[in-house]
Amino acid sequence: MHSTSQLQARQVWSKCLEIIHNDINEQSFKTWFEPIIPLNVSNQTLSIQVPSQFFYEWLEENYIHVLRKAIDFTLGKNGMLEYSIIVDKGDKKNPPITYNIPNQKSSVPVAAQQRKPEPTLYESPFQLKDLDSLDLDSYLNAHYTFDNFVEGDCNRLGRSAGLAVAQRPGVTSFNPLMIYGSVGLGKTHLIQAIGNYIKNTQANKFVLYVTSEKFCNQFINAIKNNTLQAFTNFYMQVDCLIIDDVQFLAGKEKTQESFFHIFNHLHQSGKQIIMSSDRAPRELAGMQDRLLSRFKWGLTADVQQPDFETRIAILQKKLQADGIYIEDKVIEYLAHSIDTNVREMEGVIVSLMAHASLNRKEIDMDLARTTLKNIVVDNEKEVTVDSILDAVTSHFDVNMSDLKSKSRKKETVFPRQIAMYLMKEFTNLPLKSIGYHFGGRDHSTVIHAVQTISIMLETDKEVEKTMQKLYKYFNRVRVKN
Ligand code: ADP
Ligand code: MG
Repeated sequence: MHSTSQLQARQVWSKCLEIIHNDINEQSFKTWFEPIIPLNVSNQTLSIQVPSQFFYEWLEENYIHVLRKAIDFTLGKNGMLEYSIIVDKGDKKNPPITYNIPNQKSSVPVAAQQRKPEPTLYESPFQLKDLDSLDLDSYLNAHYTFDNFVEGDCNRLGRSAGLAVAQRPGVTSFNPLMIYGSVGLGKTHLIQAIGNYIKNTQANKFVLYVTSEKFCNQFINAIKNNTLQAFTNFYMQVDCLIIDDVQFLAGKEKTQESFFHIFNHLHQSGKQIIMSSDRAPRELAGMQDRLLSRFKWGLTADVQQPDFETRIAILQKKLQADGIYIEDKVIEYLAHSIDTNVREMEGVIVSLMAHASLNRKEIDMDLARTTLKNIVVDNEKEVTVDSILDAVTSHFDVNMSDLKSKSRKKETVFPRQIAMYLMKEFTNLPLKSIGYHFGGRDHSTVIHAVQTISIMLETDKEVEKTMQKLYKYFNRVRVKN
């Protein structure tokens, strides 16, 4: 199309790169300039495509002078630069969505006013012309795809069942498909990816994503407004119903009943149902048996904590999406240090980028260490061995010396086991060191204590309550799972 101006852009940009390359070090050049794609030149303005908002901010913050120099040299003093920032990479059918910002020096500082850390399709303040990929009727977020969902042992079954369902909704034996696992492990991402896949390949299918909370609220409103029939009819038209976090329906008898009818209708008509839950169906207390037994008709697959290799792959994918290059050893360090869940890994990357921006530093080992240290310290400030011992002795009214003694009296054994459990939960101490704090007991004693308390927590409500109170000593909220 614009082949002349494109060609010209390439020539101008390659000249610019020569100049820039002379002025900055190799690593920075590789990180910040190689990913840039020259688009076109018109009216003495060179337009370049950058991979993300962060990337653009970084260039403006740190390299504006080198860029200016290069533009002066190639396009003259009146030469200008325009950034085309990728907001959505698009796919085979939809072109990438970008918006353009002139560089600050040559124009009004638009960018400074409208700066946003992470523009998304939903929040971008810019007029986006091509919004085809955002389908509000489905309430799907187009960013959740199979392409950017990293596969690992932790999610293989769920992912492949999900893909099978996406390719042949309502036809496979995976109906319903239930994905469960604890928070931040990709359930919402995966079930939305299925929805987006169906949406993109079978435009005539009515895909609907709804959280269980929203479903409940809609149901309650329908009762209030006497529109229950309309509510039910609406849901019965759906070809693929994706319902997130069904544990929220627990204890809500009437909503479950309504869901049961919708479920039966859809299932009988060969429509696909996809659900997620933060726990296995058998652990969903407060759910009607007849509903639970329906969940088992299809396939139930869990998502687990990603292992080390998968964490590396996820980090790489996220960085790549932001157009950021970080040395392998830093990525490895991050993957070794954050092993909770994927959402936290993303949080760390965001903080890293923010720290890098604010302090004008490259993301290197130093920055990774300080950033992580701040996060870890913030989280774990109060929970030390001593604070656990203090909390337990005062809560149970036992002596510290008894707690640390060999006494096998019931009044001491239980608090001691609780204290060991808490240390296992809140500190990174090896079992041996935990034993050390209780008169030099060995690691098997600690394991036994932790197991005993875990079982009690599941079977005895009083123990669970006690534990919740103890958590409050450390300003923590105990989430049962
Ligand atoms: P959940 O619904 O299980 O609480 P989410 O689906 O909201 O978790 O995932 C939390 C974040 O982690 C999301 O931004 C998601 O994109 C990301 N994420 C989780 N698992 C993966 C994965 N396997 N690959 C890439 N990103 C992932
Ligand atoms: Mg979720």
